[in-house]
Amino acid sequence: MPINSTKVGNFDIYSVSDGYMIFQRDIFFPELTMKAWEQYPSYSLPEFEMNIGSFVIKGGEKTILVDTGLGKLDHHIEQPVRETLLSEVEAFELRPDDIDIVFLTHLHLDHVGTNMTKENGVWKQTFPNATYMVAKSDWEMFNRMADKPAFQYIKEQVQPLLSNGNLDLFEGETSLTDGVTTIPTPGHTPGHTSLLLESEGETAVIIGDAAHIPPQVEQSSWSPSPDRDKTLSAKTRSSLMDFIEKENALIASGHFPKPGFGKIIKTDSGRSYKPLT
Ligand SMILES: [Zn+2]
Repeated sequence: MPINSTKVGNFDIYSVSDGYMIFQRDIFFPELTMKAWEQYPSYSLPEFEMNIGSFVIKGGEKTILVDTGLGKLDHHIEQPVRETLLSEVEAFELRPDDIDIVFLTHLHLDHVGTNMTKENGVWKQTFPNATYMVAKSDWEMFNRMADKPAFQYIKEQVQPLLSNGNLDLFEGETSLTDGVTTIPTPGHTPGHTSLLLESEGETAVIIGDAAHIPPQVEQSSWSPSPDRDKTLSAKTRSSLMDFIEKENALIASGHFPKPGFGKIIKTDSGRSYKPLT
């Protein structure tokens, strides 16, 4: 039985999902050969399922939601299950108005799709009491592209937050609440940011899209097609996994198989991801 919540010191982390997408493996990782996949039987087929995962961090002064899934956004990718984020949040007895901070790891559409909701023809913040946060460098790039058809969702799901004064554009390392700090992890996008949780001597890292599938924990050079700067994302992935291993931190990943909690274990060839059971 997968567990959908876990504890890190005084924090509870809830894994909540907005459904999943089906990706073509060889389009997502065009540079990899069949041979590279041999040691990963879970990825032996041409298609694989990718969770659209968010996390709620509870137990500190602020209740934080990390990423808001795809919502109703149209992305032309096969998605058998969609728009489950709010019901999964409610299953933990939380309402949208309980969320104090919506932290966006980056501004790709599968991370911002439930920022705003249309009610009776009027767009409103889905989480009415929340301050939304995103790295300034991500905002600058995505905002520049908002007129392109593929980035129209920025106008709908992100720009109104800035107009309302509810979008906090942070830079570098910053604290969200006691024990929750940003770690800049650029490469996937310029401002891509992970979150470090520290409490009672325990540590967790919400890795965002620093890795999309568990084999990348071991194969840090595997940068998928959506990584904007593949060299930088590989470098970031390598140092992030070094840090996680050194700290014996819990990994929380929105795109690894649900619920996306795991640890790094040492293997003969280096390291590997072991899901929490
Ligand atoms: Zn993503």
